Amino acid sequence: MNADWGLQSPRFPVPHFFGTRTLPPSVQGRFALGHVTEGPGEAPCLATLKQIHSTKSIILKSPVRPGPLPDQEGDALVTNHPGTLVSVRTADCVPVLLVDEQAGVVAAIHAGWRGAVAGIVPETIAICVTQFQSHPASLKAAVGPSIGPCCYEVDAPVIDPLRARYPDWPGVLEQTSVGKGRLDLKRLIRHQLLEAGLAPACIDTVELCTHCRADLFYSYRREGQVIGTMVSGAMLPG
Ligand SMILES: [Zn+2]
Repeated sequence: MNADWGLQSPRFPVPHFFGTRTLPPSVQGRFALGHVTEGPGEAPCLATLKQIHSTKSIILKSPVRPGPLPDQEGDALVTNHPGTLVSVRTADCVPVLLVDEQAGVVAAIHAGWRGAVAGIVPETIAICVTQFQSHPASLKAAVGPSIGPCCYEVDAPVIDPLRARYPDWPGVLEQTSVGKGRLDLKRLIRHQLLEAGLAPACIDTVELCTHCRADLFYSYRREGQVIGTMVSGAMLPG
């Protein structure tokens, strides 16, 4: 990936990017929700979902060709096809990229609070393991820019499901007042990655807040509406 596509993790070993507001038009114009399209640059194929804040992963097994996805809705794309760039769009939610070079599988995950609490990250890892013979100790993860705990105060509609489904919730929620707290989504995801068996050294995080950094990112919470999204993606080299 070209450096002008966005931010990159020095520890993520395959082509990837975390887009900013200034994704080049040549790249931006190629995304079609629910489709595989001809990709930009070194990526022959580009896959993009209709995201629904679920825990559903869409699996693209080789061969992959441009056209509508058989199943267009979901929040993670997993492929073993070299040269297919799997992408997700975010504007405060967390983009998570996974790769197992040995097993030959790569994934892009869209994890908002709903998907993260419901477990989209561990469920996508489970797919890498069961469908692609990945071993969690061989997986590497890059966690991209998202809204930080500095700007993400939540209340009962988020806190109640978090407490119900995630026993370690006090480690990711700092209480601010009665019934309110600051949620650290990236830390929640890091906990889940470690729990799934990834080595600490194999998890890299871009510690930037989409809400604080209006110069770099769109933020749903700051803008009060979707005026744009960042695109992030990864692929096995073709
Ligand atoms: Zn912030």
